[in-house]
Amino acid sequence: MARNTGPVCRMCRREGTKLFLKGSRCDTQQCAAERRETPPGSQSFRRGKMTDYGIHLREKQKVKRYYGVLEGQFRKYYNMADRAKGNTGEVLMGLLERRLDNVVHRLGFGHSRAQARQIISHGHITVNDRRVDVASYLVRPGDVVRVKNRPKSLEKVKNNLAELGREVPDFLTLVDGAVPEGHIVRMPEIDDVSIPVQAQLIVELCSK
Ligand code: SF4
Repeated sequence: MARNTGPVCRMCRREGTKLFLKGSRCDTQQCAAERRETPPGSQSFRRGKMTDYGIHLREKQKVKRYYGVLEGQFRKYYNMADRAKGNTGEVLMGLLERRLDNVVHRLGFGHSRAQARQIISHGHITVNDRRVDVASYLVRPGDVVRVKNRPKSLEKVKNNLAELGREVPDFLTLVDGAVPEGHIVRMPEIDDVSIPVQAQLIVELCSK
């Protein structure tokens, strides 16, 4: 799977907001976005006022980076949202929230979406009792995302759960038992996204 392997804190500084890409470090004083408010690059102070196109582009890039999705895959989500009923921007954000790596991360099984992707690809997660190793798998209401019942999988996830103590969004329920599992209660909505997003700007850019 293609992925962005560059320094992740630069992405937060470029977007001018915390994207929480480094797990627990993001909540400490070591967060680069808090220490340096300027965009990355030696000439960043020379940049003038952002153009209208720039504002739209930055919103799209922010969302792509937040979910760890590259352009081609993002386009597929946009096309799916465009064909679906309802507000395209809201449907788009709902699709991104339904990704299995996002769900595993938001349940607190992984520190970051990147770690959640690794947990999934290493076969530690099942959906409805079937092993799923595809991070882009889209969950549905009624699905049960469970850690595989084997010591290696349980140890990793339980350590993360104990360390993070993360608050779970309303569309999920966490059952932190002997084998931790998460239930998808309903379809996620734009209000479930944990960073502010102006989805309309993304739609205006992608629909051109
Ligand atoms: Fe972004 Fe986290 Fe790095 Fe802060 S520590 S800049 S939130 S990735």
